[in-house]
Amino acid sequence: MVLHSVARVEQEPLREESLAIPEPSPSEVLVRVDHCGVCRTDLHIVEGELPPVRASVVPGHEIVGRVARVGASVRRFHEGEWVGIPWLHWTCGRCEFCTTGRENLCLEKQFTGYSVDGGYAEYAVGNEDYILPLPARPATELAPLLCAGIIGYRALKLALPRPGGRIGFFGFGGSAHLTLQLASKLGYATVAYSRNPDHLRLARELGAVETVLTSDPSPVARPPSLDAAIDFAPVGETVLPALRELKKGGTLAIPAIHMSPIPAIDYDHLLFGERKILSVEANTRADAQEFLALAIEHGLRSTTVSRPLREANGALRDLKAGRVTGAVVLDCA
Ligand SMILES: [Zn+2]
Ligand SMILES: [Zn+2]
Repeated sequence: MVLHSVARVEQEPLREESLAIPEPSPSEVLVRVDHCGVCRTDLHIVEGELPPVRASVVPGHEIVGRVARVGASVRRFHEGEWVGIPWLHWTCGRCEFCTTGRENLCLEKQFTGYSVDGGYAEYAVGNEDYILPLPARPATELAPLLCAGIIGYRALKLALPRPGGRIGFFGFGGSAHLTLQLASKLGYATVAYSRNPDHLRLARELGAVETVLTSDPSPVARPPSLDAAIDFAPVGETVLPALRELKKGGTLAIPAIHMSPIPAIDYDHLLFGERKILSVEANTRADAQEFLALAIEHGLRSTTVSRPLREANGALRDLKAGRVTGAVVLDCA
């Protein structure tokens, strides 16, 4: 499913096309895609909030599949093995960020399904050093872990490194439902905020100690109760209620690659007291490996809806309209 020019998803910008099977370079692995998760970033790419970086692109960066062929110098992977291809496709290894353990901030980094073709397809290629080994025969529930899960995990580590505190989740989609689940299992007290009662029901099933229906005007203003918060919603307006719930010294982490403008912040009441707002950009390879190990150890499950690959436009439309509880996965097999 190829994007040639950005447009609102309602106009069905992705086109079904036949492309040649990509040729892996010596350090690359060719993967027969089994399924690919649909991430909000794909929506930003298709609709142009992230400016196009090439003439056409196949989106998709939560890719689960089997190795079809390896490049001449690849040693870590073999034909037939199950692997995941995540968002981070390549970093330069030389810039001030790469050489100080912050490759997620690399100035030249490339992304799967944006800088290079991704997984809304039957085949995709990944770099040996960036793709992730997966357990045999992974279920469709694994795909959303590859971006939504990893970025949420990085946000959790940055927002509140030590378990035990109380952490709030705003914007309860694919990433939040995995991160809340992991945080609950690691011993954080988790609180979910949403306008959607279905999202809150899922949050309770996943371990939330409290859920807050945000359209409910609270009868009395409650005192701030959160040690940290993560705002997954791409809209700036949610920053204010999240800050309002944050105690002194707390951090609000925002793992969004794009966000509409944040309204004016009342410094005296919402920021003073050493409260911090922190954007989270992509992830390092170490984040991905740590998170996948934790996800397997704690049996994280993502709630997914599977759709055929050729319905990618419809899947993005549903995501945009908030009609999905959990995550959407495209069946590419
Ligand atoms: Zn770099
Ligand atoms: Zn993503």
